[in-house]
This record gives sequence, C-alpha cells and structure tokens, in this order.
Amino acid sequence: MPQKENQKSQEGLTVKKEENFSEWYSQIVEKAEITDLRYDVKGFVVIRPWGAMIMENMYKLYEEALQKKGHKPTFFPLLIPEKNFQKESSHVKGFTPEVFWLEKVQGEDKLALRPTSETAFYQMYSLWIRSWRDLPLKLYQRANVYRYETKATRPLIRGREFYWIEAHDVFKTKEQAEKQVQEDISMTEEIMHKKFAIPFLPLKRPEWDKFAGAIYTIGSDVLMPDGKIIQQPSTHLLGQNFSKAFNVKFKDEDGKEQYAWQTCYGPAISRILASVISMNGDDSGLIIPFCISPIQIVIVPIYNNDNKNKILNETKKIAEKIKLQGIKVEIDDSEKRPGEKYYNWELKGVPFRLEIGEKELKSKKLILFIRDLRKKETISLNQISKLKKLGEEFDNRLKSKSDMFMKDKIIDCKTKDNLKKAIENKKIAKVNFCSIDKEGEKCAEYIEKEINAQVRGILANKKEIARGKCIICGKPAKEVVYIGKTY
Ligand SMILES: [Zn+2]
Repeated sequence: MPQKENQKSQEGLTVKKEENFSEWYSQIVEKAEITDLRYDVKGFVVIRPWGAMIMENMYKLYEEALQKKGHKPTFFPLLIPEKNFQKESSHVKGFTPEVFWLEKVQGEDKLALRPTSETAFYQMYSLWIRSWRDLPLKLYQRANVYRYETKATRPLIRGREFYWIEAHDVFKTKEQAEKQVQEDISMTEEIMHKKFAIPFLPLKRPEWDKFAGAIYTIGSDVLMPDGKIIQQPSTHLLGQNFSKAFNVKFKDEDGKEQYAWQTCYGPAISRILASVISMNGDDSGLIIPFCISPIQIVIVPIYNNDNKNKILNETKKIAEKIKLQGIKVEIDDSEKRPGEKYYNWELKGVPFRLEIGEKELKSKKLILFIRDLRKKETISLNQISKLKKLGEEFDNRLKSKSDMFMKDKIIDCKTKDNLKKAIENKKIAKVNFCSIDKEGEKCAEYIEKEINAQVRGILANKKEIARGKCIICGKPAKEVVYIGKTY
C-alpha cells in the first residue's frame, strides 16, 4: 500500500484550497490537464484537450445566447494597421502600451496583433452601414487577442493571449445603445452566473478606470476564493466616439446623415474558465458544471478476465440508453484499476460516475457517484432516464454554493478602519464615496496607496442612494462604491 499512497501524492493535489488557494490553483490547472505551462513564452499557455473541450462548450452556450439576441458571427483578421489605432485618440493612448507590434513587415503600414478589435470592425462598419435600415447591426467574433502584459502572469487569469468573444453593436440612438448595455449584463447573468455558477457584481467603473474610448464601462467583478477580484465580461457604451473617428454614419428616416451609436461586449472564455475552476473546485480536483462538462457521466465497468466481455457488452447497452437522452457519456475501459479511474475522473471534475459490475447487473441497481457531494447512491437501472434531471440539480447546487460563498462577502463600511479591516478579511467593502467622476480620483488613489485596494465602481443595474460623507475626504457622498483587492 505505501507505494500506492506515494503515487497518489505525486499525482493529486498536495494542498488544500482553503489553506493555500494560489498553490491549489497552480496545481489543479496542470494536474487536471487544463493547461501546460512549458511552452516557454512568457504569458502564453497551451490549453490541453480537457480544457479545450470545456471551453468549446462554454463558447457554444455563449454564442447560442448571443445569436438568440440577434447577433451574427463573423471573423476578422488578427492584424490591425497602426493608422486604425490612431483614429480614436483615447483608444490609442489607452491601448498602445499593451500592443504587440509586428516589426518585420516592410514597405507596408506597421501592423499590430489585435488587443481588441474596435479599430478592425469599425472601418468595415463605415462601408457596410448606409441607412437606418441597416441598423441595428450586431456582430460578434470568437477570437484570440494579445496584450503585452508586464505584470506577473498566471495561467488563464492573466496572460498575454486570451480566448474570448467580442460583440460590436451599432444603433440609431443612444437609448438603444444603452439598452444593449443592459442586455449584455443580463447575458452575463444568464450564462456566467446561471450556467457556470459564477456570481458577479455588475459595476459601472469610475471615470479613471473606463475602457479607452468609451463613454462608460460596466465590468463584471467576480470574487475569487482568495479574496481577490477578477474582472469578467465587460460591456461599454462607446457612444459616438468611434463612429466619428471611423465615419460610421447612416441616413435616418428623413434622409439626414447621422453618426451611429455603438456598444461592445467582451466575455473572455479562458478567464471565465479560471473562475469556473476556482469557484467550483475542491480538494479532490475540478468540479465542472454538468452543462459544460465534456463528459457528463463516466461509466467504470468492473470486471475480471472471466466476465469482461459480458460486463462490457451490458455497459455499452446502458451507455447507449443514456446517450439517447442527449447526455455525454463515456465508458472508461482502459487498463487502469477501478480505483485509479475513480481518482482520475474526480480530479477532472466529471459530474457523475456510474459503477457497473456483476453484482449491479444482477440486482439492476447501479452505483452513482455524485462529484460535488462526493457521495455514492444506488440508482435502479430503470431510473437512468432521470439522469438529465440530476444534471440540472447538480448545476443548481453549484450555483447555490457559490451564491452562499458570496453572501457574506460584501461589508458595509463607515470608517477608514472598517474599510481596511474588510479588505484584510478578503471581503468587498461597500462605502459612501464622493464621486466616480474625475474629482473622486484623489480619494481612490489614497485607497490604492494606503489600503492597497481599488475603487471598482457603482452597481450598474440598480440605483443605490448615497447618504452621508465620503469615507476618505469627508465631502458629501454622491455614490455608493464597491472596493476590493484585484489580481
Ligand atoms: Zn472623497
């Protein structure tokens, strides 16, 4: 037995999530075969098949939802000419430090790897949009984007390449554009929270922290188990800043030319995967939501040399029945021992495991292991028709669990000391604050410097009334802001 123990400790997670989240995360992405960091270019990781198949399912859900809301897919070139960047002045200022430039293309414009694609899409929009009849125009692409990140990188959390979706929408009026921003927040709720079990705060960013070129930005802040905030999908009201820079105009119903109103929305699938891993996983490994797990039920047949064929045949029949329900099922008939198989699929986070041997077939009662509860139940053979329902319940449990995690994480703070303490305790502080316009920046800088936390913004889907004074400068508070530590 000691040999087996040894092997286990090498393969499995050697730290507890609660005790050392950072190390737990580093181990899980490698040991569950999500990424491989040995590619040897800073900030770039290889996504292995298990990770890629999960991402593929995440993309699918997101893209279906986008299409349902009237978006159409498109693919744009990776390279953007330098002159496009220079058209929108705050965009060029905000993004230029992060751009990867191609140096060796001669006799042509200097070219950039896209850090985001406003400046690629909108030159084409100016050609495609002619009249109000062409609007709204709602397109998205699935793409990789590149940013020259100088801070320490972490797999899927912060890198120089990420896998995302960017939607670029054009409207006749500001009202329609603002409605789109709210629709984007609802989409984050529908997919990221309800499907992937990741709760978030939609926060309108302060003036000094908005997207370069936007009128305003709403980010989705997700609290990770280590008390740090990671920004998930953000949506931006671009107003007419880009349409004026790129000449995106339309003739209105009266034949008058007008600049269009624009928005963009960007869920980064690879970064959301980091939250899926962190929020749901436990000390035995990943726990993948049923709706995105590449294998939803794994069957481990238990046999010896004498009954191998018989058991495998019966197992295949059961698998076929499960497949008919539209469930992704796989039989693990590899040469490993059953115990090793259990261990491996738990590490990979497969929601359910069925164990089927001679005894189970005889009694028509199978053993069902439920990953999040780490519990075995017996399920009669004729009950396998309800596995889909069990899958829905599985996802609901994950969601309730992460909602519970968030429940006591937001702390009302009335004094600087309270604020400091909340941040030390890995919480998000909710405080009265002078302003998220330019004049509040000094107070935010103070918080950054003295408390090492950031003013993230105000709730974007609900108006909260500020009462009293700014927690820092003592001036009358105009806003209720959320403050936390970030990655
Ligand atoms: Zn203030």
